[in-house]
Amino acid sequence: MLGYTFITCALFIGSALTNPISVFNTDGINYELYGGGFEGDMIFPDGYDPTKDYDGRGAAAYGPRQWPNNIVPYDLTLITNAAHRTLIEQAMATLTSVTSSTVGGTTKQCVGFRPKSASDRIFLKVQYGTGCSASVGYGTGERRMTLQDSGCFRSGTIQHELIHVLGFHHEQSRPDRDTYITVNYANIELGKEHNFNKYTWGSTALNQNTPYDYVSIMHYGPNSFSKNGQPTIVPKDSTAKIGQRDKLSAGDIAEIRAFYSCS
Ligand SMILES: [Zn+2]
Repeated sequence: MLGYTFITCALFIGSALTNPISVFNTDGINYELYGGGFEGDMIFPDGYDPTKDYDGRGAAAYGPRQWPNNIVPYDLTLITNAAHRTLIEQAMATLTSVTSSTVGGTTKQCVGFRPKSASDRIFLKVQYGTGCSASVGYGTGERRMTLQDSGCFRSGTIQHELIHVLGFHHEQSRPDRDTYITVNYANIELGKEHNFNKYTWGSTALNQNTPYDYVSIMHYGPNSFSKNGQPTIVPKDSTAKIGQRDKLSAGDIAEIRAFYSCS
């Protein structure tokens, strides 16, 4: 297991007040930071360092991590609460819908989700646990999404995790991020600096010719991993709001469609 795979995080509630459509749950906690994974909520195979070994992209996916036929088979049998299962399937349906295209009155799906069949060997297992987290992309190991029942059952949060499942990293990991945001290392909790690593175009990130996207559902909020309640990420555009978890941005949709070769 990676040395930095286990992450515990301080929580700072102030941002919930200044950033109403944010990563924070109604209780003021950002459960994505409790996922126990790289950058809080991304789970990688043992020994895997996403900043060194693999291709990433835009919010940086790394490849080839696309799910075959653009379909993610899933298993919800561990989710015992029917309302939770419904919310997950509604989030999947929303993600499928907003990334679809309509040509000549016909809707064409780009990515989708379906219950796993008996013959599926690789599928997304959804489980309860601590924090919100997800495996990034398709792979041979177990792919899982963990949702804490008290903090992760919001459609936008589930869609954020599902986009990790599709193969995407966080927006502020883009190689060009320093043109758009300032990372205040002085405010980052000691030992959590690696959560603000950035990727390199061509070696660890794929340039899909999309601009930096402050309103990506994959962007961190301003106080992520803060040790003192002060911002760790400040947009250089003072009017920009970061960390929304309401819905996919136009950029998110464009990147998913490009990564999955949807026309
Ligand atoms: Zn995430």
